[in-house]
Amino acid sequence: MNTGRNDCRRISRRVALTGTALALGAAAAATVVSQATPQEKISQADAKYQGTPKGDQRCDGCMLFQPPNACKVVQGEISPSGWCQLFVKKT
Ligand code: SF4
Repeated sequence: MNTGRNDCRRISRRVALTGTALALGAAAAATVVSQATPQEKISQADAKYQGTPKGDQRCDGCMLFQPPNACKVVQGEISPSGWCQLFVKKT
């Protein structure tokens, strides 16, 4: 039985839910899947995380941000004024 395939589907669904599947592209998505942890968070490098905002987009304005310094989908310490390519604007 190949559980890797199921992991791929689960992660692909999560990426789609964040509305960023198109932004990631097929190559980047494959990298994200291969680097996924058991918690299904991806590395800061794969998310293209940076500790500074991108324009008016910043982590504390993202639906995935978990105050004070974490993220639902990206590993490690996350600055409220950071940013990554998985950004989803709060509504
Ligand atoms: S922009 Fe959103 S998804 Fe990316 S690290 Fe910040 S809180 Fe997480």
